[in-house]
Amino acid sequence: MQITRTVYREDHEMFRTTVRRFFEKECAPRQSEWDHAGRVDRETWLKAGREGLLCITIPTEYGGGGGDFGHVAIFSEEYARAGLSGPGFGVHSDIIAPYIARVGNEEQKKKWLPGCCSGETILAIAMTEPGTGSDLKAVRATARREGNEYVINGSKTFISNGLNADLIIVVCKTDPNAGAKGISLIVVEADRAGFRRGRKLEKLGQYAQDTAELFFDDVRVPASNLLGEEGKGFAYLMGELPQERFSIAVTAAARLEVALEQTLDYVKDRRAFGQTVWDFQNTKFKLADIKAQAIAVRLMIDHYLGEHMRRRLTLEESAIAKLYATEALGKALDEMVQLHGGYGYMLEYPVARSFVDMRVNRIYGGTSEVMRDLISRKL
Ligand SMILES: Cc1cc2nc3c(=O)[nH]c(=O)nc-3n(C[C@H](O)[C@H](O)[C@H](O)COP(=O)(O)OP(=O)(O)OC[C@H]3O[C@@H](n4cnc5c(N)ncnc54)[C@H](O)[C@@H]3O)c2cc1C
Repeated sequence: MQITRTVYREDHEMFRTTVRRFFEKECAPRQSEWDHAGRVDRETWLKAGREGLLCITIPTEYGGGGGDFGHVAIFSEEYARAGLSGPGFGVHSDIIAPYIARVGNEEQKKKWLPGCCSGETILAIAMTEPGTGSDLKAVRATARREGNEYVINGSKTFISNGLNADLIIVVCKTDPNAGAKGISLIVVEADRAGFRRGRKLEKLGQYAQDTAELFFDDVRVPASNLLGEEGKGFAYLMGELPQERFSIAVTAAARLEVALEQTLDYVKDRRAFGQTVWDFQNTKFKLADIKAQAIAVRLMIDHYLGEHMRRRLTLEESAIAKLYATEALGKALDEMVQLHGGYGYMLEYPVARSFVDMRVNRIYGGTSEVMRDLISRKL
């Protein structure tokens, strides 16, 4: 990218070597197999756990890597470089495990986190329902307290890791009349009676990611499965969403750089009308625009990455990062598919895979419109 990056330390770069080796050896060669299966096998999760690549920021006393968000960003950059799409390591390690680490009590952390770090326990978070996504306050799943148990009812959809998950953090109403203040987070083990997984959803991209519907019919869990306090679920979600959104922005920045390199290689090789596609002025101008965008995105992401490593990133800043990086990537990928001609439409070309796999970045974790709404509230 020709700019000096100062955000990483030496230990971050050493970690990069381990991650790159793992993705090149254990993941990239299996992408096509996972795409066809619609999910990633358990053995790969266990291997990632053995290499210390799951739950990188979770404290070592619970089996985690004890790293910071710089390690997470390196992981995302290498994931993009390897062209991976599917292993839901990020959502597991950087979005869901932190809820247990930050909101859970000591007993819960000791019980659940070691398995999450080793890959024996795969995590999902179930917020979205068929009737509500952006408006989280409107979730209808309920958890009724009966003695020492909660009885959970409701259905969830679009849940990443939905088929593989062993533990699901369910966003539900413990007080259906209290709006956001009635929301709680309750952990459900996948072997509880009354829990059922629906079909694997057929998606536009990310074929190897097991995205599924989940159903809860009178699922009983001990009251000790409540994360944090009753009625504080919405506040916990607001506390963790900046990291989720920023992770998506970090991925978008890396994908943009990788796709630009791939497109440059392609156009400099491909010939039309007695010259390379690169020789057309249109190609040079389009790619110059994309380069300028990629640099702007990189500078913004590295600045916010530093802020997040100091735990200073705000909800508004994470929304700015997600909005800007994912919109820039979306527009650039459309142009780069075009520059590939028909090959840009073939899924065996990385630019086509990025085009379909990355479209969702402007939707999940909060849509671009929701990001604009959040940003505009502070204007
Ligand atoms: C591949 C994939 C994986 C996912 N993984 C998970 C997961 O693991 N767990 C989970 O809980 N959810 C997950 N989701 C759900 C995702 O977070 C939601 O789809 C997303 O938040 C949008 O909600 P919705 O689909 O209900 O859209 P809606 O909320 O119905 O939005 C429809 C349209 O209305 C717009 N809109 C909504 N509110 C506003 C507003 N205030 N102002 C202007 N426009 C607005 C939206 O921007 C959008 O364009 C996943 C989704 C996908 C596609």
